[in-house]
Amino acid sequence: MEISGDLLIGKHTVRGTNGSIKGIDAATGEALAPAFGGATLEQLEQACALAWQASDIYRELPLETRAKFLETIAQNILDIGDVLIERCVTESGLPRGRIEGERGRTVGQLRMFAAVVREGDFLGVRIDPAQPQRQPLPRVDLRLRYVPLGPVAVFGASNFPLAFSVAGGDTASALAAGCPVIAKAHSAHPGTSALVGRAVQKAVADCGLPEGTFSLLFDSGRDIGQGLVSDRRIKAVGFTGSRGGGTALMKLAAARREPIPVYAEMSSINPVLLFPHALKNRGAAIGKAFAGSLALGAGQFCTNPGLVLAIDGPELDTFIEATAAALSETPAATMLTPGIHKAYESAVNKTAEHGEVKTLARGCAAKGATQGQAALFSTTAEAFRANPELHEEIFGAASLIVRCPDLATVLDLVEQLEGQLTAALHIDEADYADARRFLPALERRTGRILVNGFGTGVEVGHAMVHGGPFPSTADGRSTSVGSLAIDRFLRPVSYQDMPEGLLPDALKTANPLGLNRRLDGKLQLSK
Ligand code: NAP
Repeated sequence: MEISGDLLIGKHTVRGTNGSIKGIDAATGEALAPAFGGATLEQLEQACALAWQASDIYRELPLETRAKFLETIAQNILDIGDVLIERCVTESGLPRGRIEGERGRTVGQLRMFAAVVREGDFLGVRIDPAQPQRQPLPRVDLRLRYVPLGPVAVFGASNFPLAFSVAGGDTASALAAGCPVIAKAHSAHPGTSALVGRAVQKAVADCGLPEGTFSLLFDSGRDIGQGLVSDRRIKAVGFTGSRGGGTALMKLAAARREPIPVYAEMSSINPVLLFPHALKNRGAAIGKAFAGSLALGAGQFCTNPGLVLAIDGPELDTFIEATAAALSETPAATMLTPGIHKAYESAVNKTAEHGEVKTLARGCAAKGATQGQAALFSTTAEAFRANPELHEEIFGAASLIVRCPDLATVLDLVEQLEGQLTAALHIDEADYADARRFLPALERRTGRILVNGFGTGVEVGHAMVHGGPFPSTADGRSTSVGSLAIDRFLRPVSYQDMPEGLLPDALKTANPLGLNRRLDGKLQLSK
């Protein structure tokens, strides 16, 4: 499949005429062919109009059609073959094995959502049948199902060019919910976006769906992305990126005549808490594993462990020595974009120069212009408390260890933290009682609490929460990974005293779709 540099507006392949964007070879910084034409406001208008036209048709298609569509996207992505892997490796600088794994995750997510759609539980059907004889007043017939919000704008992530981009988790869950998607391609991987976009566009045609079910736009500035969020026909936004970008889009969405939800994943430092017995018994082993998690993917994970809280003493020193030894042998790694590399370097230098911070270790020196060198810092509890800038995310392989006098101080610092995607507890059995006291504070602040591991592996499943209070995400009541992500793009509607002939199939008394449902509050399984 060739990369044309064109926009995908419904079934059309159109040249954008509003400036141009080029992909960059992450390792060399060289511009890659072809140039991608940025969309004009007229082209944005066309994509939104088509999405709106598609919306009411797409959402009422049989669930089987929707499920097959998701599976067809998955197959079409696989059918692109090596061209996709190669382009993605070049644009992202991520190793081939990682990108192949990410393609597997992308395809797996689409298939998981196909299964969710077929099962139909996401429709949340509830029926409270009429009780005409009820005293003192008769009860009306009430039936509830969840309906899709309408067209969704998706801003993919730079650090997951497949699994969280054009056909990634946000797109898969929005399409599964019954929402058309307009994807705004990330400027860090336009070629990857174009290839995947074509696979989705082809799936729309293969499955005979309305053409506006999917469009892909390139933006040479900010107008198209912002115009998309402001367009009256867009009803929700999925975003992964910086805190600045996410909050800018949240403000735009809130200022609309009809404000809409923005599901933005932004910044998180993912605290690691080392409890005394675990630290004493396994400090060196935890340190080695921590260094591995910190440096994975050049540290460019939203769940990267950017903060360690522990009691100061010889046990913590053992942990630090093991971490430092492992990091000092960790090769520098190519970062996603020159911009992300520059931001990393600047944040690391600023931290290293901070009067209250000590540099404990650095990774191997960079061999290329955009390679990030891992960094490990330490500070005291008082300094961490007094300097809010030390709580900020450094996107890359950098982490700060806070030396605390006791566990009460660790808990107090947890209470000072902003919202987080994850918190990792390293505990042995003798630490359980102490760990239990931390749970309420961690539940208030994080989406996922994990034990004796690190947050960097995010399982795509039914019980996963990849979300958390602000600023880790814009709305901590949801998850962007796992099957529950579909809920972000749905809302409940009740139908009162609606004749059978008018009811959607999902709510008909005879249950023609074979759905699980709540009848008079009691769960009724279809099989
Ligand atoms: P970014 O600059 O926020 O870009 C994300 C997307 O939003 C891109 O498509 C970008 O467009 C667009 N965008 C950004 N600001 C915008 C604005 N004001 N108006 C309209 N569109 C806007 O983030 P990034 O460079 O991809 O990622 C780097 C940062 O994201 C890191 O520093 C890290 O903090 C954060 N990050 C967080 C997570 C997480 O899950 N929490 C994951 C990855 C990254 P262009 O492509 O045209 O720039």
